[in-house]
Amino acid sequence: MGAQSLTIGGLTKPDRAARLCEEVAVATTTLEVRTPAGTVPVTVVRKRVKNLNLRVHRDGTVSLSIPMRAPYAVAQDFLDRRAGWIAAHIERMRGRADARERANATADGLVPLWGRLKPAPGGAKEIEALYRREVARALPGAIARGEARVGAHAAGWQIRRMTSRWGSCTPARRTIRINSALAAYPPECLDYVVVHELTHLLEPSHNARFHALLDRFCPRNREIARILKRPAATVASNLLG
Ligand SMILES: [Zn+2]
Repeated sequence: MGAQSLTIGGLTKPDRAARLCEEVAVATTTLEVRTPAGTVPVTVVRKRVKNLNLRVHRDGTVSLSIPMRAPYAVAQDFLDRRAGWIAAHIERMRGRADARERANATADGLVPLWGRLKPAPGGAKEIEALYRREVARALPGAIARGEARVGAHAAGWQIRRMTSRWGSCTPARRTIRINSALAAYPPECLDYVVVHELTHLLEPSHNARFHALLDRFCPRNREIARILKRPAATVASNLLG
């Protein structure tokens, strides 16, 4: 399940594969659009694109990429005209996020935790709280190991519930966000995402240099990235069998 996207003047390109993290954009600003469901902030990114491309992401956030020289007034007008579409797709993404969280619990009341199936602590809210607590407990160790491997230090870390990315890095502020849902996967997955995001402090984009560095800091990165594309409950069941 990818982000809902709408491109004007070109092909619609749904973002099928969940990206590990967002590539660093050239310039961003935030505009607001009034929709039937309330005022929605939209991250507007200038890119080397020909078209305006509007996306409602899986976590319900909205972004718009615009050509380098397009005025923000054009972007605002574009958003205002699509207020209804934006509200409808945010609503749809929220419904999917709730369904995914319910799907995390298996039929026999088990949830994946660090790659093992454990008794569920309750409903979706309790599972989310458990994951957040577990990542908060494990993160300092993962940061210490990651910083030693990468040789870079982040100024701040946040644990966030995200539905489209495992982590993200803002190199300019040296801040990193880590997805609380990583607690569902084997512990090496958290280590990998920490190393991946720290590597962005050395190389912001996903270019050849980035992958060469990542291969050095985390030789199993490709294998672990593949694990993170699978549902956590499947990964945990396979470990049991
Ligand atoms: Zn990345």
